[in-house]
Amino acid sequence: MKNKKESALVLHSGGQDSTTCLFWALKHFKEVRTLCITYGQRHALEVEVAQKIATEAGVPFQVLDATLISKLADNSLTNSNITMDQEKPADSYPNTFVPGRNLLFLTFAAVIARSYSIRNIVTGVSQADYSGYPDCRDTFIRSANTTLNLAMDEQFIVHTPLMWLTKAETWALANELSVLDIVKNNTLTCYNGVIAAGCGHCPACTLRQAGLEEFENSMRNV
Ligand code: ZN
Repeated sequence: MKNKKESALVLHSGGQDSTTCLFWALKHFKEVRTLCITYGQRHALEVEVAQKIATEAGVPFQVLDATLISKLADNSLTNSNITMDQEKPADSYPNTFVPGRNLLFLTFAAVIARSYSIRNIVTGVSQADYSGYPDCRDTFIRSANTTLNLAMDEQFIVHTPLMWLTKAETWALANELSVLDIVKNNTLTCYNGVIAAGCGHCPACTLRQAGLEEFENSMRNV
């Protein structure tokens, strides 16, 4: 699956997950590029954070403006007039769900990867520990991978190193890759735009903090 002779394109938002994926890719591929897709997120700061991490990692950084995604349907990530769901409603997806986002992201990534003759695409989606977004599931990624290959007559491989990892295990992976401090201090996961540990009370911060505590406790017990 991994080939040190090949290149990879990493979808990078500057958050914990995609930053861990960036360093995972640097370990497994000869050359790595990052692609940061913007779609009217609440915080332009995300782009700045992603660029800084990519620059410090010594990899090319590219931004793609996909603001049109935010114009297609309302959700609380792109519309600041909507109050963000703190947890998943019982019968639907939380309003942080951006319908179609990962399918569009993977399509944009594949088109750009192809232009650089890159066939490996890395994304930080995870089925294990999330709010149950349908486009974070393994079955979706496999289906999208097949579709992209058929659409462009290519042999793309979509890598999802975090697919089956809990948040605590994602911290452990950052530690194994010797980038725990970078991920801890330089990434932006918080929905309220606070770098590192974040605001402490939004859903992303709660998940990140709980995972970090679980990871740190497991290290103490070794
Ligand atoms: Zn927060």
